[in-house]
This record gives sequence, structure tokens and C-alpha cells, in this order.
Amino acid sequence: MKHGRVAYKGQIHHVVELEGRIQTEIGSVVNEEDVVWLPPIVPSTIFALGLNYADHANELSFKAPEEPLLFLKGPNTLVGHKGETIRPSDVTFMHYECELAVVIGRSGRNIKQSDAYDYVAGYTIANDYALRDYLENYYRPNFRVKNRDMCTPIGPWLVDKEDIKDPMNLKLYTYVNGKKTQEGSTKNMIFSIPFLIEYLSSFMTLNKNDIILTGTPKGAVDTKVGDVIVTEIEGIGKLENTIIAD
Ligand code: MG
Repeated sequence: MKHGRVAYKGQIHHVVELEGRIQTEIGSVVNEEDVVWLPPIVPSTIFALGLNYADHANELSFKAPEEPLLFLKGPNTLVGHKGETIRPSDVTFMHYECELAVVIGRSGRNIKQSDAYDYVAGYTIANDYALRDYLENYYRPNFRVKNRDMCTPIGPWLVDKEDIKDPMNLKLYTYVNGKKTQEGSTKNMIFSIPFLIEYLSSFMTLNKNDIILTGTPKGAVDTKVGDVIVTEIEGIGKLENTIIAD
């Protein structure tokens, strides 16, 4: 099943997908055009992986990491499907990052890789925009690069894990104004979902609604004000975002 959160007629609703339309918790069925999409869950901790695909590390001239390169994002960064993200006027290189987002379903500590999927609720799509101008290197906190308001579109749907046969073998695509600019597969992640869950939970508790953004493959190109960016993951859906000026 696909779960979402939308604003409709002045209220926030928890909704599910019903034959391409949206069904609210009280049974009304509404059209996509009539709602404002919100991030599909209210996040707890948001983890993000840097350079989790060797081909992306390569295109940025970084060495692939030997241990997960993690950073945190605040809840201010999330924006729903069909939302807008600001390109600051002083930036010369702002690129999208299509990423499989893993949503944790229950608390756990010291989780073994073999049990990792028991702790997953489902999956959604994130676009982890990066403003390269503000990045010094990967050994400094990249707050200005990755923690801007509305810099991380997410959604539209949280898809139950039961509906995704193999999350480690999904195609990812990004389209800029309808033209395909990024293509990859989650099978090329350096650190897999089970590995990341074991790694994180070895030193901190993972909680329900924690989100792990698992990194992006190669194909990062500069985007401009007015561009419509669609990030797509096989079986999960398409997430649309428009870039706006300061
Ligand atoms: Mg990223």
C-alpha cells in the first residue's frame, strides 16, 4: 500500500493511493490536483549518506569512502511532492540527487544485517539537492550545503516494504524538464540498506520514522531557476519539484 500526507480543504489528511487517486482516512476520494502534498511522514532523525555510489564519487573526483559517510538533516529541509526549492542567487552549481529513502518502522539497537528489514516500514523517494559552491570538503560539516529550508523534496508516497521485492535492485532516474539526465540502480550502492541499519544501530537507537537517504548515482548536472526536476524510482513513483529564485 502507498501512504501519504496531504493538505486538503484546510486540514492535514493521512491518505492512501486508490487507483491513481487519493483516499483520505474518512473515505473521501480526491484528485491529485486538489491537494497540497506534504512529506509522507513526519520525520524523526534524518540520516543522509555522502558518496554511496562509486560512480557518483568518481564524477565529483572524490575517493569512494571505506566507511559510511553520514550527515544529518533537519526537518526544515523536507518539502512535499510538487513543492519548490530555492536556488540562491550566488550559486553556480546546484544539482539534484535522486535517492532511495528508507523509513524505519520500529525502534532497535544493535540490529544485525540479517534482521535489518524487520525494522523497515517502507520506502520513498528523496531529492537531496546539493549546492556545491558551499561545500569545502567532505570532512567538514556541510550544513550550508544540505540543511537549507525546503532543499529536500520527498514523497509523494511511502510504499510499504512488502510491496518492494528487492530494494537493492531498483532503477533510479532523474529528468530535468522532461529530459533524462541521471540513471542508476540501487544495486550499485557501496553500503547496502542492511549494512547501514546494522552500522547506525551499533552506536545509536534507530526509531520509528527515522529516514535514511541512501545516496545517489552518477549524473549530477547543474539546474536553473524554473527547471522542473522529476526524480523517479522503479516501483515507488515519481517526485516532482520546481526550482525557484531567492
Ligand atoms: Mg545525497
